[in-house]
Amino acid sequence: MSAESIDGKALAEELRAGFKARVAALAAHGQRPGLAVILVGEDPASQVYVRNKVNACEAAGIFSQKLVYPADVDPATVLAKIAALNADPAIHGILVQLPLPRQFDEKAVLEAIAPAKDVDGFHAENVGALAQGNPRFIPCTPYGVMKMLEKHGVELVGREAVVIGRSNIVGKPMALLLINAGATVTVCNSKTRDLAAHTRRADILVAAVGKPRFVTAAMVKPGAVVIDVGINRLPADEGGKLCGDVDFAAVKEVAALITPVPGGVGPMTITMLLANTIEAAEREIRT
Ligand code: NAP
Repeated sequence: MSAESIDGKALAEELRAGFKARVAALAAHGQRPGLAVILVGEDPASQVYVRNKVNACEAAGIFSQKLVYPADVDPATVLAKIAALNADPAIHGILVQLPLPRQFDEKAVLEAIAPAKDVDGFHAENVGALAQGNPRFIPCTPYGVMKMLEKHGVELVGREAVVIGRSNIVGKPMALLLINAGATVTVCNSKTRDLAAHTRRADILVAAVGKPRFVTAAMVKPGAVVIDVGINRLPADEGGKLCGDVDFAAVKEVAALITPVPGGVGPMTITMLLANTIEAAEREIRT
């Protein structure tokens, strides 16, 4: 039996439609949510991500400010800008597009963002709050995954969840969210011995590896829910298309629910960024 595909695009549209009323309610208070996006350098993928974020803000009625710096900018210039944005009442969310060029201390940059404006949820204070089960901002990609699981009524309490990948952006916060939701969670990495022995136990399998078609059908338990976070560009001789970390065609014959790439987790990530920015503006009104 072929798995049901989780339509991230449709869910993203549904959620974004719901944001309209929240943005209108803020407008009634004279408030417009504002997001500042900082881009350093000319990495083509980062440029696309930033453009998509700015366009999504515009469509949702969120004010956005794009700040672009050359790759060789002095980090002090960017840190000074972050300090100014921290104090700017028109800005509720600040995002620094990663990765940053080598002269930057990435951690120092993320820590410079005021925790109350850290809509990516990467500041140590917000990571700590998430670890304690009391999140202020949930990192956008794993937040989107949780929304997909919720939408499809996927039970998490008492179930085995396996996350492949332990990055600060995806794997670790994903694992924390699943732990907080009551799943029994295993986090795998590149040194994990007998990876398939772990993944075959998973009722919920999340792949955040960055390797095309890494998860094969033999690694998946029949009836599992498979979430593919990976976004990989295939080489030109293979069509140059986007491809996930999961061998979709084969795994969908084993799984019960599966996310495609594109059209799965990707559209949810930006949607949850909008959600966090609106939430940040709402909090300001409440305080
Ligand atoms: P990352 O920082 O490179 O982390 C990859 C993780 O995979 C690492 O923890 C690594 O282990 C692990 N890994 C690599 N090879 C492995 C193997 N053979 N067996 C088991 N684990 C292995 O990447 P990331 O930022 O988490 O992103 C992962 C993927 O998601 C990428 O394709 C990225 O483009 C995509 N992504 C998508 C979205 C979205 O919106 N859909 C958002 C963010 C990222 P070690 O720690 O041991 O090296």
